[in-house]
Amino acid sequence: MSDTATDVVLDVAFFRRWLNELHATVETGCDELTRLDAAIGDADHGVNMLRGLLAVSAALDESEGLSVPRDVLWLAGSRLISVVGGAAGPLYGTALRTMAERLDPVVDLENLAQAVTAGLVAIRDLGAAEPGDKTMVDAWTPAAAALAMADPSAPLAALARAERAAHAGMMSTIPMRAHKGRASYLGWRSEGHRDPGAASTWMLFSALANAAA
Ligand code: ADP
Ligand code: MG
Repeated sequence: MSDTATDVVLDVAFFRRWLNELHATVETGCDELTRLDAAIGDADHGVNMLRGLLAVSAALDESEGLSVPRDVLWLAGSRLISVVGGAAGPLYGTALRTMAERLDPVVDLENLAQAVTAGLVAIRDLGAAEPGDKTMVDAWTPAAAALAMADPSAPLAALARAERAAHAGMMSTIPMRAHKGRASYLGWRSEGHRDPGAASTWMLFSALANAAA
């Protein structure tokens, strides 16, 4: 069943809204991300993400000449790569820049889905994580799959489904043993905790759904 497809325009304003929503979501969830990273990492994931998204928001506020969506994601990805020191910054930054390269001048849901899949491939190429390694890949993979299977005439439903898939992917990391990143140093002691990067990936897809709603 189609929803209000004509009301969901995936233009420059939409991508700006997405990143502003993500900034707000990470601001609210910063302590939670830090708490998750304290359990199996070095307690900096919330601060890392917030620092990066503050820089993204500032760069977007200052820039007026962004005429197509790919300009927005390229700028955002570049700021994350420059500003965030931890593992997640370069991974998210590279994902956004790869998405930018994949976006057409006029974006529809199918093209957005292709870009999200390209972003996931970039994360996997850079970090060499497989699904099941307890990383952001475990939330990003089901979200990308949900979008790839989406009905193009129902974008709101598709983005909501991608968010739920990312949430389920995040929850699936709880029993996993980490095989990549700092958490892997803990071996079996990484089991029983949500992966912080999977949690921020859920925030990313939550913000995407909210930008369309
Ligand atoms: P750091 O580990 O350098 O402190 P962050 O705390 O900001 O960086 O990010 C940690 C998150 O990054 C992890 O929870 C995980 O989801 C993700 N991550 C770490 N290494 C990899 C990797 N090789 N591939 C994919 N994701 C990774
Ligand atoms: Mg960390």
